[in-house]
Amino acid sequence: MNIESRSPQLLASNITMTYGTQRVDLPAARPVLSGVNLRLVRGESLAIMGPSGSGKSTLLHILAGISAPTGGEMMWNGLKYAQMSDAQRTKLRRSEFGFVFQSGQLLAQLPALENVALPLMLAGVSVDQAKQQAQGLFASLGLQGLMDRRPGELSGGQAQRVAIARAMVINPSVIFADEPTGALDQHTGMEVMSLLSHVAQQNSTTLVVVTHDAHVASFCSRTVQMHDGILSDTSTGTSTATGGAQ
Ligand code: ADP
Ligand code: MG
Repeated sequence: MNIESRSPQLLASNITMTYGTQRVDLPAARPVLSGVNLRLVRGESLAIMGPSGSGKSTLLHILAGISAPTGGEMMWNGLKYAQMSDAQRTKLRRSEFGFVFQSGQLLAQLPALENVALPLMLAGVSVDQAKQQAQGLFASLGLQGLMDRRPGELSGGQAQRVAIARAMVINPSVIFADEPTGALDQHTGMEVMSLLSHVAQQNSTTLVVVTHDAHVASFCSRTVQMHDGILSDTSTGTSTATGGAQ
């Protein structure tokens, strides 16, 4: 089936975001996102590129329901985020979304195995079963040797592999990765991206990667560009803003 004709899993419509004050005695803050439209279908991989400060992380947080936009609408499988309760959004994030950040997302006190088991425990799986499932994942990703290490005993690349395992352990529908290779050298970064895109493909997991690195973006099937809060689809060469150049 043509990708355009499939119903979107994630749909962002005319998203705007302005941080900060509503005070009338201060100048109005400039929007960080303006008129952003984005549709993602299940299993596709998307890179969001753009310079630092252009609004990429803000958009990722809105796509994942971590923060609410000041304008526009976000939908998950046809369901509006704004109409979900906080508890429903939290449940959506915990059961459907996996996250990989630049660094520092593993808990320093816990061995890698327990770090990976944690999202399952949060989802209500028993400790023993969570550890067993996590163990299976380490094996399938070829990371057995890292299970007992604490984050301080892992290299940057190893830590990111464990972070990928942690994101994947709940078998999410979508993985959101924010500069997942940003703290790594080029070679290690490509190895980590290779693992990330491989596991996403194997599991038909939708992948959204924020990056300013074109090599990282090349692992994704589609790339959009963010500039000063305006998203343009480089595959079509048009702005996604409502009413923008078509
Ligand atoms: P990127 O990820 O592309 O570097 P961000 O989305 O982090 O960009 O930030 C976009 C703009 O929004 C920046 O000017 C940043 O300073 C501002 N910003 C980000 N988060 C906040 C926040 N919580 N409060 C106020 N301003 C923010
Ligand atoms: Mg960012």
